[in-house]
Amino acid sequence: MILGIVTFAVAQVAGGGLGYVLGGMAGAAIGFPAAGMLWVLVDRVQALRVINWLRRDGGRTLPIRRGQWGEIASRVSRLLRNREQLNAESQARLHEFLEAIRESPNGVVLLDAQGHIEWCNQTAARHFAFDAERDLMQLIGNLVRDPAFAAHYASRAPAREIVIQGPDSSPSRPVRLAVQLHPYGAGRRMLLSRDVTMVEQAETMRRDFVANVSHEIRTPLTVLAGFIETLQNLPLEAADRARYLEMMATQSQRMQTLVNDLLTLSRLEGSPPPGTRDWVRVQPLLAQCETDGRALSRLLAVPPHDLQVDPAPDVEIAGIQAELLSAMFNLLSNAVRYTPPGRTIRVRWTVLTDGRHEYAVQDNGPGIAPEHLPRLTERFYRVDRSRSRETGGTGLGLAIVKHVVQRHGGELRIDSTPGRGSTFSMVFPTSRVRPVLAAAA
Ligand code: ADP
Repeated sequence: MILGIVTFAVAQVAGGGLGYVLGGMAGAAIGFPAAGMLWVLVDRVQALRVINWLRRDGGRTLPIRRGQWGEIASRVSRLLRNREQLNAESQARLHEFLEAIRESPNGVVLLDAQGHIEWCNQTAARHFAFDAERDLMQLIGNLVRDPAFAAHYASRAPAREIVIQGPDSSPSRPVRLAVQLHPYGAGRRMLLSRDVTMVEQAETMRRDFVANVSHEIRTPLTVLAGFIETLQNLPLEAADRARYLEMMATQSQRMQTLVNDLLTLSRLEGSPPPGTRDWVRVQPLLAQCETDGRALSRLLAVPPHDLQVDPAPDVEIAGIQAELLSAMFNLLSNAVRYTPPGRTIRVRWTVLTDGRHEYAVQDNGPGIAPEHLPRLTERFYRVDRSRSRETGGTGLGLAIVKHVVQRHGGELRIDSTPGRGSTFSMVFPTSRVRPVLAAAA
């Protein structure tokens, strides 16, 4: 301001001086205001250049560098650059923020006050089968048609999680979504979604498991309680007493077997898979299975089964001896328990064409209908319930076998034809089996 006044006065004085030199007092009288007007004109022109520069959004090159207008242009330019930088920084932050929400494993949908979809991430699009672009600004109520969601949306209740059926849900592949509506801003709402199918399945499995275990334990316990009451209240002959005590022993044995199998399962689930430090020779395992199999057959079948064990190559397998023996005998004991007396059961250890090793138990018992096969390794799943119970089965045998074989890097195969028999086999990878060295043998 002061600089402006000073330059204006200097211009007038200089104009007046020049006028005086050229035309005396009259020249000074003209030169003085003329110089002032010239100054104002130049000043206006400079102002116009700055205004035009600002109209073009203030480019990087300043229209004027010197004088008052130069300083104004330079300061405005600096302010504009600062603002641009701040804008760029907040844009980048917003971008990162949206990127994080876009990648979130949970679904996020932003709704305006009327319930239009303003934005959603890919997870939400997948959960609700939206098209992330085409469905923008559609009403959420038109796209999520679950009645429970509609009621929850309409109620405007405080954020509470509800579980609804996913749009792609089917009886064979159920999809369950936990959704929650959070109010924010002016009447807006944020819809969060989580796929809880697995969580619900795990919870159902846990409930079923507890119910099954309770049921399995309650049956022998009820029988035991009945016998105890009888023994307490009735004067029994020694022979009857002995018979009752034997039946009680059978029931308590049944509970013990069940508890042992449950502990085995939980140990298998809770311990790391066996490494390749310990090697177990296969032939002694087969010999042990044969001895125990014959004993079980003599106990259960009259006449006993024709148990044939093929000679096995002298190999050893990396793993845990007790687990391997329990899995191998489990398959043999099933064959003995489910095959009618006198029939043939064949056990063999063979090398497959791809180099893997297979332990197989083949029987010509009743066989199993195809619809049962996928469920056989589920805990407590039984095809022949009464035969399983009669022969002391817990319904956990094949679940244990599957765990053991998988921990040893192999797979359980079941091949069965109703009326013709079954073959249960465990196939182990080449990396876990090696020939027994002569010295070690
Ligand atoms: P369980 O203790 O009842 O034998 P498993 O898990 O070992 O339990 O077997 C599950 C079911 O598979 C059995 O209840 C039985 O119905 C069927 N099963 C298993 N092995 C055989 C077999 N060799 N022949 C026919 N059915 C079998």
